[in-house]
Amino acid sequence: MTPPRRVAQLPPILIERIAAGEAIERPAAAVKELIENALDAGAREISIDIGGGGLDIIRVADDGHGMDAGDAERACQRHTSSKISTVDDLDSIRSLGFRGEALASLVAVAQVTIVTAWDEGPAAWQVVYRDGVLVHAGPAARRVGTTVTVRNLFAGLPGRRKFLGSGASEATRVVQVTRRYALAHPAVRFSLVSDARLTFRTTGSGRVDVVMGETWGTAIRAGLLELPTKLEGSATVSGWMGDRSTTRPTRSGIIIVVNGRPVQSSGLQEAMESAYRPLLPRGRHPYATMQIHCDASDVDANIHPAKTEVLLRRERDIGGMVMAVVRTALGTMPDRPPEGGWQRQSGQLSLVPVPSSEPSQPPRIREPSGDYETPIDRMERGRKLVRELPRMQLLGQVRRALILVEGRDGLYMVDQHRAHERVLFEQLAAGTDVVAAQSLLEPVALELKRHEAVLFQSRLAALRELGFSIERVGDVTFLVHAIPSVAGGAASLTPDDELSREMSWPGDNWHDRLRTAVACRSALRRGEVLQPAAMRQLLLDLAATDSPAVCPHGSPLVLEVTGRFLERQFDWS
Ligand code: ADP
Ligand code: MG
Repeated sequence: MTPPRRVAQLPPILIERIAAGEAIERPAAAVKELIENALDAGAREISIDIGGGGLDIIRVADDGHGMDAGDAERACQRHTSSKISTVDDLDSIRSLGFRGEALASLVAVAQVTIVTAWDEGPAAWQVVYRDGVLVHAGPAARRVGTTVTVRNLFAGLPGRRKFLGSGASEATRVVQVTRRYALAHPAVRFSLVSDARLTFRTTGSGRVDVVMGETWGTAIRAGLLELPTKLEGSATVSGWMGDRSTTRPTRSGIIIVVNGRPVQSSGLQEAMESAYRPLLPRGRHPYATMQIHCDASDVDANIHPAKTEVLLRRERDIGGMVMAVVRTALGTMPDRPPEGGWQRQSGQLSLVPVPSSEPSQPPRIREPSGDYETPIDRMERGRKLVRELPRMQLLGQVRRALILVEGRDGLYMVDQHRAHERVLFEQLAAGTDVVAAQSLLEPVALELKRHEAVLFQSRLAALRELGFSIERVGDVTFLVHAIPSVAGGAASLTPDDELSREMSWPGDNWHDRLRTAVACRSALRRGEVLQPAAMRQLLLDLAATDSPAVCPHGSPLVLEVTGRFLERQFDWS
């Protein structure tokens, strides 16, 4: 046994390094703190330059209000801040920083030089820190603003360096963090240079969609939709998101900004995800920038050392607003032929989409012809259009798969299977009022794996809500007595492996997956002949859904061929 050691006060430099580890976890965290300081100083332009993923060097220069000599020296001491001064201030923080720890942490774990010029001072001032100690302070040259240079991050902490990725993976994190702040502050010009190469630059346009193009690549611009602004009480939700053809395989395209601070909020993320999950193909996630503005006193930013998580007092309400705007954006717009129209080859119509030339063109002014619509117009129109479908002229069924209707402005094709899936999915989501349990003549036995059986047992009540009546008869054996029967649903639903897999799906999205599977199996198939009355009823039911333009798997179900499109394609002008 090792003899017990004596309890002793730690040396100050050790205390500093321990504390620094909390706020500055990796290069991207240092960049984040320096960007926040620049924004708090009112910068209009922030240049970020990193080498070796930020481990070798990070330099952040801003044109904010700068510091005078005294402040420049005080700023790097622990618990020094100009942003809050009383306990009450903590309840309504308007700045990004407030903990007064970032610079103190940085000087504890890296070599730091600050050059700053205060707008009222005659000259610039430079301070240099080595191993947490101020080794130089004196005049320098700089226009108003501040440049902070951080070299050899964690060089004195070999343990920490071991936990970090390669320079390249740390650089990726810096890109992500910088992009989040650029999106949160679209009116500020950001540039990011990594190993002497420009990663991206934003123009300070003030437009979130422009910054999304500038930081993700212009290719996504054409697919961006403006979310309808939602206002409730003192909170507003607005933003932009990619349409169903502009998605990512991960959630990293989703950025949530609360009062100018990009945040992680599991509640809002969940709200957003549950809204888009049934509207996008499985495994795809949107590009989205959600801007939330609410009272400063409704946000608690002081729950996380790196301030990346916040508590929102009205998270449920705001989550509901987020869900509503996402559903409207993704769920109500019929698909259309590509912007440029279909290409005509040797006098024949063919289905080769012409790439839209939109992104490189200057923003178009709305033409009186009504040919160009903003995404908001499209959404509004999409919603109205689907409501009007049942009142339009029903032309008939095409390929025993599509319902064809003609309206004043064009032709519409509705996929009968997907439309019915959408209707049934929303009925199932509405719960027991609409869904009846239909008893099976012979109960069906399901044999599960042991871990599935545990999950299954805990979900029996929820499954009853969905119209399943299930009884446990053995350790891993369950008997299905009844299945959900939705109005107009075919009776082809039998409990089998696929259904039981969704019922015991480990994720919390099992509800949606099961509903999708039930809707898909109960819905009308392609190939079924429909009488006019049945087609009308389906259009009526579809018009009553929340997201009438997409099936629960996220595929489009209405195709619109506008009159304008036909005129163009046939040269009928
Ligand atoms: P906090 O941001 O929580 O106040 P920091 O350690 O990040 O703490 O910064 C300490 C103080 O230094 C800030 O309150 C601010 O007054 C000053 N400061 C830091 N960076 C800048 C900057 N880029 N421009 C002007 N002032 C700055
Ligand atoms: Mg700060």
